[in-house]
Amino acid sequence: MSNSTIDLRSDTLTSPTPSMRRAMAEAEVGDDVFGEDPTVRSLEERCAELFGMEAGLLVASGTQGNLCSLLTHCRPRQEVIAERGCHVVTWEVGGWASLVGVTMAAVDAPNGILTSDLIRGAVKAPNVHLVDTHLVWIENTHNTAGGTCTPPERMADLVRTAHELGLRVHVDGARIFNAAAALECSVADLMQGADSVQFCLSKGLGAPVGSLLLGSHDYIHEARRVRKMVGGGMRQAGVLAAAGHVALDEIPQRLPQDHANARLLAELLSDTPGLSVDPDSVATNLVFFDIGPELGLPTEFEARLDAAGVRVVGFNETGRCRAVTYHQISTDDIQRAAEIIHDCAVDAGG
Ligand SMILES: *Cc1c(COP(=O)(O)O)cnc(C)c1O
Repeated sequence: MSNSTIDLRSDTLTSPTPSMRRAMAEAEVGDDVFGEDPTVRSLEERCAELFGMEAGLLVASGTQGNLCSLLTHCRPRQEVIAERGCHVVTWEVGGWASLVGVTMAAVDAPNGILTSDLIRGAVKAPNVHLVDTHLVWIENTHNTAGGTCTPPERMADLVRTAHELGLRVHVDGARIFNAAAALECSVADLMQGADSVQFCLSKGLGAPVGSLLLGSHDYIHEARRVRKMVGGGMRQAGVLAAAGHVALDEIPQRLPQDHANARLLAELLSDTPGLSVDPDSVATNLVFFDIGPELGLPTEFEARLDAAGVRVVGFNETGRCRAVTYHQISTDDIQRAAEIIHDCAVDAGG
């Protein structure tokens, strides 16, 4: 065991627990496109209630949830205001451009957390030359900004401003349970009247597949047709929803430990030569560390770590590597990973 690779590339690497596998084996199922899968329906209702929303829709992935949301909220020639580093802007194959036909007003926000002033500044005036601003996009936690959280008070401010301006609000909450754990609030507290939210069962919550899209009855009614259009109508999806139920039962209360492990990793790495990381910048379960030029490119350092038994992701564009904690990574794993990363940095000439 102690010689196995410690894989910190993503919290998508969680694998279903024995209780999830049992629930999947025993799930009551039906054809969900006909609306007849009781386990899917109960998961959708449970999640809607948990977030204080009217209705829910199980989708295949976070990307599909975000795409269905854009296709439901927006029409071509409309514009979305999003923080520049948002997942949807860069990491979803540009579906907003190629499939939805919207443009992005990408704004730079400190720590990836939008402000009302940034929204006001990005709204386009009615003008024959311009697209119509329609939607505000909030990513919580914000992935590339370092797992940062938009707290309830800021959400209330952003939603109020957006609605005053006639804009809708979508929350990309792929890791919103991490935000709620870090802020010690409920996921419903993080909605504050937002029009829709997508969250992933398959990241830190540990289920094998799936995301939920939540919103009003009308919105979900339309999103369900959109999901069918993009090929996301699944049949006996109760086997997946069953694992989602167990994930919600068991995992949210374990997320603070993932956050403590992330912080510990940053602390242990903070005096590693050639690396730079600020433990105070670790807000949830994502740790980004800067790779000094003496260690080579981030992807080269990633390969060096891989050979030594630790996997992270290197981003050459930003000169950083990312390590992610999740419930199947123990504090011992973190101690050992930090030692390996330290030794690799020294070997690389750091
Ligand atoms: C991972 C992620 C997604 C996409 O989820 P997939 O299930 O991988 O498609 C969307 N938004 C954010 C912020 C993410 O981190």
